[in-house]
Amino acid sequence: MFDGLSQRLGSVLDKLRGRGALTESDVNDAMREVRVALLEADVALPVVKDFINRVKERAVGQDVIRSITPGQMVVKIVNDALTEMLGGGDTESELNINRTPPVPVLMVGLQGSGKTTTSGKIALRLKTRDKKKVLLASLDVYRPAAQKQLAILGEQIGVDSLPVVDGQMPVAIATRAMDVARKGGYDVVILDTAGRLHIDQELMDEVAAVRDVVTPAETLLVTDAMIGQDAVTLAREFNEKIGISGIVLTRIDGDARGGAALSMRAVTGKPIKLLGVGEKLDALEGFHPDRIASRILGMGDVVSLVEKAAATIEAEDAAKMAAKLMEGTFDLEDMLSQFRQIKKMGDIKGLLGMMPGISKMKKQIDEANIDNKVIARQEAIILSMTPQERRKPDLLKASRKRRIAAGAGVDVADVNRLLKQHQQMADMMKQMKKMGGKKGLMGALG
Ligand code: GDP
Ligand code: MG
Repeated sequence: MFDGLSQRLGSVLDKLRGRGALTESDVNDAMREVRVALLEADVALPVVKDFINRVKERAVGQDVIRSITPGQMVVKIVNDALTEMLGGGDTESELNINRTPPVPVLMVGLQGSGKTTTSGKIALRLKTRDKKKVLLASLDVYRPAAQKQLAILGEQIGVDSLPVVDGQMPVAIATRAMDVARKGGYDVVILDTAGRLHIDQELMDEVAAVRDVVTPAETLLVTDAMIGQDAVTLAREFNEKIGISGIVLTRIDGDARGGAALSMRAVTGKPIKLLGVGEKLDALEGFHPDRIASRILGMGDVVSLVEKAAATIEAEDAAKMAAKLMEGTFDLEDMLSQFRQIKKMGDIKGLLGMMPGISKMKKQIDEANIDNKVIARQEAIILSMTPQERRKPDLLKASRKRRIAAGAGVDVADVNRLLKQHQQMADMMKQMKKMGGKKGLMGALG
């Protein structure tokens, strides 16, 4: 799966990654190509639009980290946006089966989507990996061989299946399955429903009735990855009428274009939990958005390069701060760069987190009540000073303060407050120098 998409996106980004400088029109051209690539892969139009906007927004106004190229930066932005579209992060969306047993898991979807096979796969996984006692129950009363199919599957993997009682309807079977499971000490009951060729009212009513009697912990929509644009309607319908908790994509071992898969998460907001990667019963994988994104882009090397560069820069800045601390000098220029650092990192704890052993300082800074709006105003005050004033705050007498306040659009009282805060920080630095000295601090930085 994803072959075509991967090739097209890969070549667009390949062109970008090597470039030393990018103009806005370079980025626009590239995004036009990304857009076409996504649409050709069957990603739904609204999802594509949202994706492109997100990337553009971030690409503009993004500082390029030293030591990487703008093209590499864009690759990283596209990668992150793709990961988010797929659900974000690297956490596998596990099945939520932590509830008083027996825990019902309801499998829903169209006929031939892979429900029965996936029921077997999940049962095998729960049995071997999670040591759960699983009961399989087929609610497919329409195809004569269906209940038998599940029973055979169960035998293959050594998992029990509910004995077939002729003439029973789905709701009755589900009730009986829960009963048998309760008495037999089963942990999980997998209820494999009958599919239809198309979504119809009868199917929805039947599945809803089963849902109402068992209250499933998971309702998994099983979808063939090859389904194309219909996937979006399908997912939306099932989600609205039945309420799904997650999506399982099957046949991703085939040559599906994959776009449908990408859209389903975006339109339902429900996570893709598992992937069927073959006909065999162990061919089931957890879903990791970041791994899938890098599989599609084929740019994992660039992404990790950018991440490493970003981490290095943060560490460099922290080290520079530490050097200042060691000198025991801290002028308004330093204060300004610290404000910028704080803003960039979003949270002062990030900076201080890199300097173990400085919890005392952190507490004082917390008390100084730093938030972003305040920081922006303080930045403006320092920027209204001359470089000389920034290095020697002692120069700041009344007339200069008035000039600075006017320049920054604040009151003189604000300027005084900033100077007082600076004085406190500078004192703190001196104190720390006395306390730890060079050796102590280097030790703290480890
Ligand atoms: P159901 O009608 O939804 O219960 O679908 P089935 O579980 O009976 O599967 C229909 C067909 O798809 C079977 O031939 C399965 O072997 C096949 N199948 C299911 N999952 C996968 C998968 O992940 N990869 C491949 N290649 N085939 C699959
Ligand atoms: Mg079936």
